[in-house]
Amino acid sequence: MEVRLASSRGFCFGVEDAIELAEEAVVKHGAGKVVALGPVIHNKQLVERLENKGLNQSGKLDTIEPDQAVLIRSHGATPETFQRAKERKLNVIDATCVLVKRAQNVVKQLHEDGYHVVMIGDSKHPEVKGVIAYAPKVTVIDRGVDLEEALPYKERLGIVAQTTHAPEHVAEMIAEILKRPYREVKIVNTLCLEVTRRQQAAVELSKEVDVMFVLGGLHSANTRELARLCKEQDCETYHLETAAQLTPSMTEGKKIAGVTAGASTPEWIIQEFVKELEAI
Ligand code: SF4
Repeated sequence: MEVRLASSRGFCFGVEDAIELAEEAVVKHGAGKVVALGPVIHNKQLVERLENKGLNQSGKLDTIEPDQAVLIRSHGATPETFQRAKERKLNVIDATCVLVKRAQNVVKQLHEDGYHVVMIGDSKHPEVKGVIAYAPKVTVIDRGVDLEEALPYKERLGIVAQTTHAPEHVAEMIAEILKRPYREVKIVNTLCLEVTRRQQAAVELSKEVDVMFVLGGLHSANTRELARLCKEQDCETYHLETAAQLTPSMTEGKKIAGVTAGASTPEWIIQEFVKELEAI
């Protein structure tokens, strides 16, 4: 089978930095002495690998011992989390991605400048939960939300988006907001270009192939978005975590397969998968 890889795929700099910081911290503090407040990234295989190296990823701030260090994930954390860690005099290793940090600062600034802040994103995603905590009141909206009900009438709106959302989707939601009588709407672009590039490459590739494989954690927001975009091109698409999930029916009658991967998918998972496909 012919296999074509997306020109932009896999690890982003934010994830690479977070993994490097986590590994360095384990070497410095010792196995079991670094506790992350949840999985460092949304990739089961990599989470297991880090656990085997001695990183504890099931941490709750209140149960971390004084001789352990706390690792903040690339998704970031609330100001309250940093404050509580400070009060407990814990050693904090901050692996928040710089772009997530920027979104947090933007939300804080918009609120201070008198805007009612609106975030386009998934309210259950850890990045969104962290970002909205930087202002006292943020309205979170996403696909399927009734804007009439969700959006309060305020004179001035300040809008940001979850870093991993597709620009087209964010633009559609902003267009809907602009149909309402707000006096001032300020939009700050908080989208991540690393993600946008992967999305554009996936869309292009899905137009050339018979089937698309999107590799990455099933809970990874940016991987799910890649799969959604490929399906939108009417390309048969499978979102898989590893080569072990590949079944013969997925490639039956197909000549060319496209492969892409989310920002938290390691290159070894992509290469293993390509080998399996090429052997078909
Ligand atoms: S996808 Fe973008 S925002 Fe998210 S960690 Fe990677 S570089 Fe940062």
